[in-house]
Amino acid sequence: MKVLERSFVLTPQDILEKYYGYTEFRPGQKKIIDQVLHGQNTLAIMPTGGGKSLCYQVPALLLDGLTLVVSPLISLMKDQVDSLQDSGIKAGFINSSQDWNETRQILTAATNKQLKLLYIAPERLEQSGFMNQLQRLNVSLIAIDEAHCISQWGHDFRKSYLSLSSILPQIKSQPTIIALTATATTQVAQDIMVRLNIPTDNEVKTGFARPNLAFKVVKGQNKNDYILRYVKANQNSAGIIYAATRKKAEQIGSMLKKAGFKAAVYHAGLTEAVKKKNQEDFLFDRLSVIVATNAFGMGIDKSNVRYIIHAQAPGSLEAYYQEAGRAGRDGANAEAILLYSAQDMQIQRLFAENSDADDKHKEVIYLNIQSMVNYVNTQNCLQQFIVRYFGQDMDECNTCSNCTDDRQETDITVTTQKILSCVMRMHQRYGKKLVAQVLAGSKAKRVLELGLNDLSTYGIMRQQKTAQIEELIDYLTASDYLTLPDPQYPTLHLTELGAQILRGQNTVTRKVALIKSNSANPEDSELFEQLRALRYEFAEKQNVPPYVIFSDQTLHEMCR
Ligand code: ADP
Ligand code: MG
Ligand code: ZN
Repeated sequence: MKVLERSFVLTPQDILEKYYGYTEFRPGQKKIIDQVLHGQNTLAIMPTGGGKSLCYQVPALLLDGLTLVVSPLISLMKDQVDSLQDSGIKAGFINSSQDWNETRQILTAATNKQLKLLYIAPERLEQSGFMNQLQRLNVSLIAIDEAHCISQWGHDFRKSYLSLSSILPQIKSQPTIIALTATATTQVAQDIMVRLNIPTDNEVKTGFARPNLAFKVVKGQNKNDYILRYVKANQNSAGIIYAATRKKAEQIGSMLKKAGFKAAVYHAGLTEAVKKKNQEDFLFDRLSVIVATNAFGMGIDKSNVRYIIHAQAPGSLEAYYQEAGRAGRDGANAEAILLYSAQDMQIQRLFAENSDADDKHKEVIYLNIQSMVNYVNTQNCLQQFIVRYFGQDMDECNTCSNCTDDRQETDITVTTQKILSCVMRMHQRYGKKLVAQVLAGSKAKRVLELGLNDLSTYGIMRQQKTAQIEELIDYLTASDYLTLPDPQYPTLHLTELGAQILRGQNTVTRKVALIKSNSANPEDSELFEQLRALRYEFAEKQNVPPYVIFSDQTLHEMCR
């Protein structure tokens, strides 16, 4: 490791005040900047909104040569560079939107030391022509933003990032390397460090918890109703609603517009001009809500987003945390709500099946999907669940929906034993659906074909619906009684914990709602009661049975 002992005219603190107008560094920033200034390759892991950009921009201003910023966010490069220039920092970018002439001008500026920062897309470095140009520059630092893209274990793997590990060592000026990411499990972090030649000791990780975010998982509700109600109650706050597909984003967008809200849509199917307009309208508070696919948000710096609703779950807990993390960057309270239904995960599996990923990578995709399923099915603190997933620990947050709900802990040992013994009877060879069907005593074709109706566990949970049993299986998987060792073929297996339950050595509990209510809004049940009272009143007056006035179904609809 090369160590540069040198003194700078200005200190990082000076730069912070002079160019950014901030008085204090955020947690981790100073340490990262110092390491980089000492020529130590560094991995910086900070939550979204933690202030990663400063960690390479401040050194860029202090180091002699050029800082190259590798970023996958071509659409945002211009904005980032503009805002640096506004602060009096000499910066430029090179990407596919420019012609050769523009590119040459930027390169000339860089060669003449007129630039401190140069943003480029990773694909650029793969071009030999560009590398030749680069060799003539004095590059002091290379910052790799969204560094998790280099790892096949990450949720956003990109081939162009992978080639960085062979390209970077070829750069003659031997620049220091700083990799930055908000979402790295222990495994992804290790992968990044190996590939970019970063010593393990040089990882700087700040706390992953976001104490100002209240996480919520909402299941079994009409999503459109929930969204409409929520947006109405929060009309004066900015929010993002994420959908898994363009079609769904469009559908929710027009629903909100029709209801009179200031909403717009953002996804990759729109023209650049429309995307730009919608993004800016949102940034400058001309819209209150934007409905988007995951094409929206990476690198967007809007500090006062008060809520993120996921109308559909994304494909990994990493992606979820990154998207949810866009709320409350200003430190004030915000909500991250996941509206979950089991079909969401089927959409993600469909994406996976149809992706061109190789087998190894597909396996990772399936594992990632499972992490999301585990999240929605845990009954522990949600924030703690996420933080632990990223290899850290924290106390319960006291604000998430699992910490604050008033459900009661119930013993479900016997039910669990039924499920686990059915999995064993089926020789741990089948998935959730078939196990649930056998337990429910279903006459589905596949059950009969396989002769599973002869099993002693067939129909032992007949009083429950297949979907309910599937949900229980999800809960048991999330709680580590069952596992899916082969993500590609999700067949259920018992864990050691599960075996203990079967042997009667332990008990299982689950929190269940005291009163099962379908409405999220207490006012709704009030309305329901009022209408019901009216119905009885009318019925009495007309001397007819109450259901003649209006049915229960109509009553429900009137409350929506
Ligand atoms: P990240 O890339 O980690 O998601 P950014 O670098 O975009 O986060 O920073 C998020 C916001 O925090 C920006 O508005 C940035 O100006 C602000 N910020 C960064 N560092 C500081 C600091 N030391 N003091 C105050 N605000 C900061
Ligand atoms: Mg960033
Ligand atoms: Zn909690």
